[in-house]
Amino acid sequence: MEHLLEIKDLYVVYKGDDALVRAVNGVDLTLERGETLGLVGETGAGKTTTALAIMRLLPDRIGFIEKGQILLDGNDITKASDADMRVLRGSLVSMIFQDPMTSLNPTIRVGEQVGEVLELHHKELGKEEIEKRVDEIFTLVGLPPERKTDYPHQFSGGMRQRIVIAIALACQPQLLLADEPTTALDVTIQAQVLELMQQLKEKLHTSTILITHDLGVVAETCDKVAIMYAGEIIEIGTVEDIFEGGAHHPYTEGLFGSIPDLEKKERRLHPIDGMMPDPADLPEGCKFHDRCPKATERCASQPPAMYRWGTHGIRCHLFGEEPDKL
Ligand code: SF4
Repeated sequence: MEHLLEIKDLYVVYKGDDALVRAVNGVDLTLERGETLGLVGETGAGKTTTALAIMRLLPDRIGFIEKGQILLDGNDITKASDADMRVLRGSLVSMIFQDPMTSLNPTIRVGEQVGEVLELHHKELGKEEIEKRVDEIFTLVGLPPERKTDYPHQFSGGMRQRIVIAIALACQPQLLLADEPTTALDVTIQAQVLELMQQLKEKLHTSTILITHDLGVVAETCDKVAIMYAGEIIEIGTVEDIFEGGAHHPYTEGLFGSIPDLEKKERRLHPIDGMMPDPADLPEGCKFHDRCPKATERCASQPPAMYRWGTHGIRCHLFGEEPDKL
């Protein structure tokens, strides 16, 4: 079966005046239809850059896809023209950003902002039909349709995020990229927005990549988890593979405080001693070696491969030669 999303050996760089920042370094990822993947890691691990590359929204003249393929429903995003991307964005893939105010135009009524997306992708629809669809989408995300003539500043943070979700879902994209969609919201509203996303996933069968620091959210809402460090996926698996005992990457063990536990549902990543390496000056060997309590001499010079057992993969020399350790 064809995957909805297949990322193969993706490298993304940011070119500055005197530095080359290596933000994504050889990411491989697949996502099936209707599946939710949690993308987890510290700030600067490459999660948002991966999402922006899928959207082809890397900063102009600074961010570049250096190598690799992004196949979305059979379309190679890395080769699509800007005109093709304008069509694919919205109809095939949409993104929800952390702060709803950055995605909304403060001077345009919210209903018009949802309607604009429909007009762009459904030129065959007349004015009345668009109005009807806007009302339906408002109802779908739990907003009263009569408020479509209000401006963004007239809504609370949680309602604004619902409007952003309405815009993202207006054309029923097959893939939704949600970058910390609830971080700017208070806890009660966070729960409501996550529940809404879950309901929409069931109704519309949308696939989602959820970028988050919140491991509790991952345990509750995701099917698969990928953990990123210094632009690489260092562990990947089903929620059970990652949250249940057994073998884990030393970085994952550090993140979860100890061995992850699906029952305990850790809510936050634990800080690990040291800093992530400078992406403009990445070390040789394993990128985690100067923070890793299990590092050996080999780790400083040889980059580890991703070793896979069924659905579970770990990028670490410790698992390379002794798979029965698992
Ligand atoms: Fe630690 Fe070495 Fe494994 Fe890297 S390869 S995580 S340094 S043991």
